[in-house]
Amino acid sequence: MKSDFLVIGSGIAGLSFSLKAARVGSVVVVTKKEEIDTATNLAQGGIAAVLNPDDSFEEHIRDTLESGAGLCDDAVVRMVVENGPARVKELIELGVQFVKEKNGNLSLGKEGGHSRRRVAHSFDLTGKEIERALVESVGKCTTVKLLENHMCVDLIVKDTPEGKKCLGAWVLNDEGEIQKFLAKVVVLCTGGVGKVYLYTSNPDIATGDGVAVAFRAGAEIDNMEFVQFHPTCLYHHQAKNFLISEAVRGEGATLVNELGERFMTKYEPEEMELATRDKVARAIDKEMKTTGADCVFLDISHKDAQFIRERFPNIYKKCFSLGIDITRVPIPVVPAAHYLCGGVKTDTFGRTSIKNLFALGETACTGLHGGNRLASNSLLEAIVFAENAFSFCMAHWEVISRAEHEVQLSGNFMENEKEEIDEAILINHNWDVIRRIMWNYVGIVRKRSRLLTAKDRIGEVRREIDSIIEKYKLTANMLELRNISLVAALIIEASLLRKESCGLHYILE
Ligand SMILES: Cc1cc2nc3c(=O)[nH]c(=O)nc-3n(C[C@H](O)[C@H](O)[C@H](O)COP(=O)(O)OP(=O)(O)OC[C@H]3O[C@@H](n4cnc5c(N)ncnc54)[C@H](O)[C@@H]3O)c2cc1C
Repeated sequence: MKSDFLVIGSGIAGLSFSLKAARVGSVVVVTKKEEIDTATNLAQGGIAAVLNPDDSFEEHIRDTLESGAGLCDDAVVRMVVENGPARVKELIELGVQFVKEKNGNLSLGKEGGHSRRRVAHSFDLTGKEIERALVESVGKCTTVKLLENHMCVDLIVKDTPEGKKCLGAWVLNDEGEIQKFLAKVVVLCTGGVGKVYLYTSNPDIATGDGVAVAFRAGAEIDNMEFVQFHPTCLYHHQAKNFLISEAVRGEGATLVNELGERFMTKYEPEEMELATRDKVARAIDKEMKTTGADCVFLDISHKDAQFIRERFPNIYKKCFSLGIDITRVPIPVVPAAHYLCGGVKTDTFGRTSIKNLFALGETACTGLHGGNRLASNSLLEAIVFAENAFSFCMAHWEVISRAEHEVQLSGNFMENEKEEIDEAILINHNWDVIRRIMWNYVGIVRKRSRLLTAKDRIGEVRREIDSIIEKYKLTANMLELRNISLVAALIIEASLLRKESCGLHYILE
């Protein structure tokens, strides 16, 4: 299969870029499950931008820098913030329905770390609304071919005198065959890595594939130690990965322990529940460890019941279906792995260290988030960098479009000669081992000795996975396991290198 652009992933980053790229060339989007199986589709709170005359670029920049713990790239922060309003306007033109006030202005939510109300939202289903509009637009676009159940296995990369150059990707197609996809531009938009941890807000697709394939291809990876834990995921045995949005705290919800005590007074007496995510997650972790409780509680029941039902219809419905009426009782919550601030290192155009290879969205490490992402800045980052990557391709289109597709002969997959795996336990057991090690040893609060133990154990598991991959015919499950094991190793390695606590990386000694 040949195209001008090969886009890997169908979330906000992949689809926003594809819609733009389709104006100049042919686009193939591969996505490993169904098109809406994305973190984008689950985003609740919204998208941050300066959309109100009372707000200012300087304040959004300051909030982002403060959250980033001194590790943001100042120029990138400014660029993203200043481009925010135009990109949000583009989403609206595409058909995204953000909630408006009676006077026609956008209704803006407030979230932790933001000094102003600046989060455009579609109640608590913002991501679903954005994904809907993008999927519909892509569906109408004749130059975009979207292939579901097609999983990128590895990149096809060639060494040239000027450095590495990406020629395309090997893809496990919907018939279980490995197929070669060649393209002049390859864009990694594979989302995050939440599945590396036992508890996560992320969807099942979040196995760090983009980071893993880029690393194997030799691309620079950065800031992997900065994994953001969302403070408030629903704690219920029947609920998988359900987030209670930051916006609930933004609207006045308080955090209480089993005794009903508002414990944030002990940890963050000034900002309380609206402290940045890292601080709130650590406070909850400490409170749970001190009291031995399995969870804490988020209480918004003091607010008007109708307001709660209207402002958080999705959260209300989900909790109610599990027997929790949030207008009357507090919601049991725990922190969970939520967002990767690091990833494949890019410049301001989304270019990686490999020629013709771009990375956008959560897969990329652009310099915006530094040591800790400010809430609702990630959807914004995805659309701003999609535009930048596109404008780079436009500006260089004459050169890019003239290039012939290069067919690299080496590295063909000899999958047909391998036997099918007949013991699912070999795979499933290792999934569980990795996720537990990461949760227990490389979580919210870290310790050098625990990181070293995790390094040894993950090393052993990786050797076992390599021998499985060597022996058996590849499956999607096997590939994801290999990717989470590599991403786990990268997180541990980066955590060991950063000796002092900073942002999301909190280390005791
Ligand atoms: C519950 C939840 C709530 C959130 N709320 C907010 C919010 O309110 N505001 C905000 O700014 N951010 C929020 N975030 C973060 C934000 O949603 C994500 O960072 C963002 O949507 C990522 O977009 P993306 O396009 O990079 O990746 P995704 O939307 O995750 O899309 C990744 C795509 O890549 C595909 N893929 C992955 N691996 C492969 C492979 N090997 N081959 C082919 N395809 C592959 C997937 O199938 C998927 O289509 C939230 C995240 C979660 C999980």
